[in-house]
Amino acid sequence: MASSNAHHATGWAAGIISAALAAQHGSHGPFHVWLWLAFAAGVAGATAPDWLEVAWWSRKKRLWITHRTATHWGLGWLAALFFAWHAMPHHPEAAVAFGFACGGVMHLLADWPNPLGVPWILGRHSLNLWNSGHCDLLVVAASWAGAWFVVSHVWMRGTAPLTMLKHLL
Ligand SMILES: [Zn+2]
Repeated sequence: MASSNAHHATGWAAGIISAALAAQHGSHGPFHVWLWLAFAAGVAGATAPDWLEVAWWSRKKRLWITHRTATHWGLGWLAALFFAWHAMPHHPEAAVAFGFACGGVMHLLADWPNPLGVPWILGRHSLNLWNSGHCDLLVVAASWAGAWFVVSHVWMRGTAPLTMLKHLL
């Protein structure tokens, strides 16, 4: 895995991206509640592929799913993302699932450059760029650049993101 710090930091970006897309595509709900939940789900989803495979409810916390197999399955996360996206206009609560899936995909993207790779469809694929834990800054910066792009281009066309923050708070 990329270091867990990197997953947390990219998680914030995933949260912002999902809230922005949910705002644009779905429903806000009272007090923007679905946007906030989409954001929180994005943060949780970005670490999910790693904590889902640990038996965190037991005392030994062993892996019950081999590392980077089922919980890192790209097709599964992308399918969840797709269905949640299409459900959102009719079911605003799908924004939460959308956020979680967004975080999951972000996690896989962060794991992808490591030699261990990610099982996107069948078998693993690795970009083989650097070892786990290296270049975290690059991964985090890329995710934040992506978040900035989504917020400024998709959600708030032309509005400064700072104005958006005021609008949310
Ligand atoms: Zn991972």
